[in-house]
Order: sequence, then structure tokens, then C-alpha cells
Amino acid sequence: MKFIADGMLGKLTRWLRLLGYDVEYSSRLDDAQLITSAKKERRILLTRDLELYHQAVAKGIDAFYLDGKTGAENLSQLAKRFNVKLDIDMATSRCTKCNVVVRPISKEKVVDKVEKSTFSYYNEFWECPKCGQIYWQGAHWTRIKKTLEAAKENLLNKKGS
Ligand SMILES: [Zn+2]
Repeated sequence: MKFIADGMLGKLTRWLRLLGYDVEYSSRLDDAQLITSAKKERRILLTRDLELYHQAVAKGIDAFYLDGKTGAENLSQLAKRFNVKLDIDMATSRCTKCNVVVRPISKEKVVDKVEKSTFSYYNEFWECPKCGQIYWQGAHWTRIKKTLEAAKENLLNKKGS
């Protein structure tokens, strides 16, 4: 399952990549380019633009219209429709910038790449093979988990309604 997201979904794109999904995204793609790419690469088009959604569906493209007000709402809509998983497994996570799967990197190798406090607190690190970005499950992880928990809760509440 691969996605392509419209220019308004930069934040959601980062979420999906972290969750391990292949998402093509560029704020420079126009509607026609989004539709062409979706068709050529068999990607599901994610959009906040109802007009684009109808255009894509008319052309036989698998598209999904997102109208969530928060990241958690959009994630739960995707979980409901496509069974997108709402747990992060760093073994499958992709770089939020490059869409490339990150790989584990040993602690010694990040000593010059992260702040001292980060280095001393954490033992597990991952690196993007393309841009070199280092990932770790730091303090920001609490916020990430909260959003995912909220998304799961939305999903439960909407069931059976
Ligand atoms: Zn990267």
C-alpha cells in the first residue's frame, strides 16, 4: 500500500512515513501531476481538496478525502479506511523527509551527530541512509505516542456509530 499526498498534507505525510508507509509528497506537484503519479505508481491519493478527490475518482484512481481537524483525526480516518497501523516500529520507519527506510546505527557512531544530553540519555539510534538524519525515541516521543493514542481512541468511539 503506497500513498501520494497533496501539498496540504505535509504533516500527515511525516506521520505516515514514521509509521512505515511509502508516501510520495511534494508541495510543488499540481493536481494533474498528483493524478498522473498516483495512476503510474498505483498510489492511493490522499487529499484535503474535495474537487481533486472527485477528479481522481472520475479517472479511476483510488483516492481518499481527509477532513480531520487534527493529526489524530486524520490518522484515525486512515486507520478506519485502509487499516493503517497506529504503532511505530522503527524497524520499518521511513525518514520523514526522504521517504527512505531508516536503519539502526550504533551509539558510538552518533557521538558527533547528536547533542551531548541526547547521547547520554539514549542508547538506540537510527539513521536515514539518504540525508543522514538521526532518529531516536526522545522526549518528543511522548507527544507522538499521545497523538497515536488519541487516534486509536477516535477509532474506538466511531465504531458502531
Ligand atoms: Zn532522510
